[in-house]
Amino acid sequence: MTIGDYLLYPGSPSKLQSDLDAEALERARLRQRGIDSATFGPDLLEHEARHSDQWKHFDPGTFLVLYFSGTALSYLITRTDGKANPWEIGANPYKGGYWTYDKPLTPGWLKPVGNCMIGLCW
Ligand SMILES: [Zn+2]
Repeated sequence: MTIGDYLLYPGSPSKLQSDLDAEALERARLRQRGIDSATFGPDLLEHEARHSDQWKHFDPGTFLVLYFSGTALSYLITRTDGKANPWEIGANPYKGGYWTYDKPLTPGWLKPVGNCMIGLCW
């Protein structure tokens, strides 16, 4: 979770490093399959950096209301906090671990709509 420019990570520094190493391994696996891992691979730090960018456009109270409104919307659509949250999609849900390249999303329209939100319309 990011608040402003601060990343709040619930584990130890070694756990964070272990998670980042696992993400790098997964990106390497995707690259070996010819998949654009810089877009579709997990990357927590890059995802959280996008949230920092989102924070700077609003005062904190406004951003929190907007973010948690997106969380409510996501819960209504997917029964998850983030898979349909526009703020998580805007921060790249693949990088944040909300979406996985090979796993389908329910409802099915969510992935093409979300991909357009991160500039991957086709
Ligand atoms: Zn996020």
